[in-house]
Amino acid sequence: MSPSIILLADQVLTLDAANTIHAPGAVTIEGAEIRAVGPPPERAGGEVVDLRGSVLMPGLVNTHTHTPMWVFRGLTEDVPRGEWLSGRLLPLERRLGADELARGALAGCLELLQNGVTTIADRYGHMDAVATAVEASGLRAVVGHSLFDRSRAADLEQAERLIERLGTDPARSRVWAGLAPHATDTCGPELLRRVRRIADRTGARVFIHVAQSEDEVATVAAQHGSGCASYLDGLGLLAPEVVAAHATYLSDAEADLLGGRGTALAHCPSSNAKLEGRVAPVVRMRQAGAVMGLGTDAACCNNGMDMFEEMKIAGLLNKVAADDPAALPAPDLLRAATSEAARALGIDHLVGSLEPGKRADVIAVRTGTPRLLPWHDPVANLVYGARGSDVVAVYVDGRPLVRGGRALHLDVEQVLADAVQATERLIDARR
Ligand SMILES: [Zn+2]
Repeated sequence: MSPSIILLADQVLTLDAANTIHAPGAVTIEGAEIRAVGPPPERAGGEVVDLRGSVLMPGLVNTHTHTPMWVFRGLTEDVPRGEWLSGRLLPLERRLGADELARGALAGCLELLQNGVTTIADRYGHMDAVATAVEASGLRAVVGHSLFDRSRAADLEQAERLIERLGTDPARSRVWAGLAPHATDTCGPELLRRVRRIADRTGARVFIHVAQSEDEVATVAAQHGSGCASYLDGLGLLAPEVVAAHATYLSDAEADLLGGRGTALAHCPSSNAKLEGRVAPVVRMRQAGAVMGLGTDAACCNNGMDMFEEMKIAGLLNKVAADDPAALPAPDLLRAATSEAARALGIDHLVGSLEPGKRADVIAVRTGTPRLLPWHDPVANLVYGARGSDVVAVYVDGRPLVRGGRALHLDVEQVLADAVQATERLIDARR
């Protein structure tokens, strides 16, 4: 049996069902699992890690990102509505291959880790190479190879290979595979029926962009005579094991339908605001029954992949959209980055709260900064005041990956230099 590690801190926010807080508190880790959470033990049998001056909480869960797109940061700014994807992004994507994207993915994972993210849902092309980078990063991740009608056979082959290689069970593998049809306008009924069948056969979760642009909504209406959510529903793809990203342009009836099926929702408020100037109707979808996790989306959509920032922006934008300052309160926002996000990814039996038996994905946030004092309300301080740069320690599966805000297991300068070098072919794309 591996020796215990005991993390000591001023406070432990467990985010269990009762919202238990221990102050001071300790989390005892054995191997990859949490063995105990509570007040500091009187006699410590194991290695004690002194994290006093900080608060311990569950590692953050990012339900929608594209880590390879780290390389595109700063190249898609203030683009008129409707032009971002085909006008700006696609021409950039064509310039890079698997090796460059894998290097970008490792830098993206490093950024997320140092910001306190311990689990990601990642999806993109060249996922064979990208998944290797994600594995090396130490993050917990579900990865999916993007599927398009235009390259259907090759995409499906790569997706099946990824499932064979990594499996679909998050309890068996720290990095596992999902199915990732691109969007409702780029995937026809035949491809989506295949996805439904593969999901049924393998148990893979399905990740899809839904109603992320006006173009997408118009295309689905023209081709199928329905809204994006109804289109998916007709193919059996609105369900708790389906994670719909964005849902920005859903009508009220479509939002109710998506929520009513208990669909998981990846809400990316920064990305929606930056690329579309819109707020997705998430308050409505949640009221109807959707399970919501937050997502940073890609580095060029926000432009920093910081889930603390994402919580705050989700809160502020949805209060404005609802014309109600009490909408989407701080405890809900914190859950949408931890326990509810874990539920959206189907991994709440493993992570999302600090409880004995769960995986030891734990982060420490330093509290002694002017921005975070006084510490009257831990939840409000974390949601509205904290930043990724306040994270001082990160554990995934009980393994220390970040200390003093810096990754321990990666050569940080080398990872960043390699990834910046991978952007060389993009230099003349700057505007
Ligand atoms: Zn996306």
